[in-house]
Amino acid sequence: MSELKAFLQTEISKTGFVHIGDYMAYTLGHPTHGYYMKQDPFGVAGDFTTAPEISQIFGEIIGAWVVDVWEKMGQPAEFTLLECGPGRGTLMADMLRVGAMVPGFLAACKVCLLEMSPVLKDAQAEALANISVQCDWVISLDDVPRDRPVIVIGNEFLDALPVRQLEKTAHGWSERVVSMVGQNLGITTQSAPADLVMRVPKALTGCKQGEIVEVSEAREHFMRALAGLLDAAGGAGLLVDYGHDVSAAGDTLQAVHKHEYVGVLDHVGDADVSSHVDFSVMMDVVGDGALTYQGHFLKALGAHVRAERLKDQAQDADQRAAVEPGYKRLVDADQMGRLFKVMGFVKGYDFELAGFQN
Ligand code: SAH
Repeated sequence: MSELKAFLQTEISKTGFVHIGDYMAYTLGHPTHGYYMKQDPFGVAGDFTTAPEISQIFGEIIGAWVVDVWEKMGQPAEFTLLECGPGRGTLMADMLRVGAMVPGFLAACKVCLLEMSPVLKDAQAEALANISVQCDWVISLDDVPRDRPVIVIGNEFLDALPVRQLEKTAHGWSERVVSMVGQNLGITTQSAPADLVMRVPKALTGCKQGEIVEVSEAREHFMRALAGLLDAAGGAGLLVDYGHDVSAAGDTLQAVHKHEYVGVLDHVGDADVSSHVDFSVMMDVVGDGALTYQGHFLKALGAHVRAERLKDQAQDADQRAAVEPGYKRLVDADQMGRLFKVMGFVKGYDFELAGFQN
């Protein structure tokens, strides 16, 4: 039995179960055995590939979006460029390469990385080592300075924050939890605490018996803290993730190991566990945000033009041939283009964000 599984078994023995939110938090973030804490999960040799790792177009377009926001803010002499869950640092490096072409941008930019994983912090430091920009790491939004504007970016960050699952039964809601079933971890149900039932989106309170609804206090809490930071400091944000634009019932908890979907209780600590983000809840927390599809956002900001340029500039036939598949994977509706949503918001300024117009 893995050490993490033994740890979970001990936790479960205390009360008979752990809720799915705690299960996610432990499997991903346990200080020594958590999935993100002990390894770099990305790329061909890892478990999954994210947009910035697929094509530089993703980070370059978001970099152009950040520059546009900075200009619309009136080019503040100092601002924080905050990235939540920066992975290998690829997105930040691609964004800063674009920013470096704009006079004054790098000098004004103070990079702040919200990251819990020591392994990924090292990867981020390495990715940014040759860029002359101030760079700090934080583990909480409370540690981000509030005395200068903030532009915040996050790709596939929200999906890693814990969710809990409720199931509608003949007698009301029960909670799906993780227990020991014989020698193995299994999903069972418990009566649902009232403060959890309260979080069910209004649109789903009347769902049918047997349907599952996911709620995430952690995501709501994070969005509220982020909105509070931007209210205090002024700024704008862009969060990209897979999920719903309209709240929907369904079990979206998933685990990915070596580029394959596996059972969420298998490969404990060795698989990425996540769930789809309910962006309508995130939008409610922020108040006045904009939401669109990743494909729409990237195309509206000229991703196709950038793809053509990259083909022209390719150093060899292989590099040239890789551009189009990467671009299509990011934008096509049957790939990431529609499943992934982009949410943008501005606080303390009055301008329209690029990329969200029809
Ligand atoms: N944005 C990157 C990585 C996405 S994976 C990319 O697109 O490639 C999720 C990232 O969020 C990882 O860097 C992980 O370590 C970090 N992360 C997950 N939960 C976190 C938490 N609670 N606090 C801080 N970082 C977290």
